[in-house]
Amino acid sequence: MTFIYATADEIKGGKTTDVYFLRTLETLKKEGLGGVEVYAEVTVSALPKGYKWAVYAGLREVLHLLEGKKVNVFSLHEGTLIKPSDYRGIRVPVMALEGPYEEFALHETALLGFLASASGVATKAARVKKAAGRKMVLSFGARRTHPAIAPFVDYYAFIGGCESVSCVKGAELLGIKPSGTMPHSLMIIFKAVKGDHTEAWIAFDRHVDPEVPRIVLADTFSDEVEESLNAATRLGSRLWGVRLDTPGSRRGDMAAIVREVKWKLKAAGFKNIKIVVSGGLDEHNIPELAEAGADVFGVGSAIANAAFVDYALDITAVKVNGSWIPIAKRGKLSGRKLVHRCWSCMADVVTLEHEPLPQCPNCGKQMEEILVKVMEWGHMTAEIEQPQYLREKILRQIDKVDLL
Ligand SMILES: [Zn+2]
Repeated sequence: MTFIYATADEIKGGKTTDVYFLRTLETLKKEGLGGVEVYAEVTVSALPKGYKWAVYAGLREVLHLLEGKKVNVFSLHEGTLIKPSDYRGIRVPVMALEGPYEEFALHETALLGFLASASGVATKAARVKKAAGRKMVLSFGARRTHPAIAPFVDYYAFIGGCESVSCVKGAELLGIKPSGTMPHSLMIIFKAVKGDHTEAWIAFDRHVDPEVPRIVLADTFSDEVEESLNAATRLGSRLWGVRLDTPGSRRGDMAAIVREVKWKLKAAGFKNIKIVVSGGLDEHNIPELAEAGADVFGVGSAIANAAFVDYALDITAVKVNGSWIPIAKRGKLSGRKLVHRCWSCMADVVTLEHEPLPQCPNCGKQMEEILVKVMEWGHMTAEIEQPQYLREKILRQIDKVDLL
């Protein structure tokens, strides 16, 4: 028995490909056409419903996938905010591959899967963070996804905007400390054995690394306000925050509960205790809770089960007798293209490779070419920035766009 998942070697070896690529390669090779050089572009085919933009993510994984293949890769940088089309409705290529078709055909499925999932998670995290504003967002998504990819989810949740992550392996990869509070099981065992669940708070404080913020669960057996006041009294200034994970059946108006806890803590002299909320949070319900006084949001399902960003890879040019012939299927634009961006307006202009450099259609400023070479014949020519840097870069970009 083993878990059902593909190993890294299987993914790199093309084992997770859709079978039709294998059959295509067999046919091409037997006709002596496997080595034909093609130019293929990746574009966004659909954003999740209601989204106006996405975070382009997953490049790190794609470069690892294609490392050592005889292929050139052009791409936007990891963490670039994207819209599917430029101002005229021309689809924006986010990545382009150049090389013998047989070098990358087997990897198209995995390539698209990496981009779709990483971008989906990073985009959702960015939306949630935008909704939370200056308040903290923690990724609690490890329990809502396959454990083999929990660190992947945490990585892209963090760069998308989460302040921290709960999964130990995810935090390790990010080079940060994992964040968490305490589970209800701790309260229940203390209540059952010692007759008092609040002893759990004291014991936690006694034994856990002093650097870990003391955040106690304040909803296990009784009212959130009473539990919070009780915790504040028992732990005093050692208490960093209270977590409200109120079950759905008792919620009623969660914002009102948060407002009341905050108020009554303040009235009792506990001004600095943070309110951590978790359970069923997303970019739609966070603003109301933030306004009510919640300080930290633990988000699981919304990020881990984020709607994916659909990408498609299409050949747009083929090299025949040493010359690139522009060719593409119906509905796709042929040729090798460049992408230019105005970072002030977040506007893009797509041109053919040999066209003159455009100016921003909104402000007239010079634009920056953003589809750049990141891999030359299988060797990386661009660094993937550190997660903290990527996160800050994404936060700066989401400042310039609307959520809805
Ligand atoms: Zn502009």
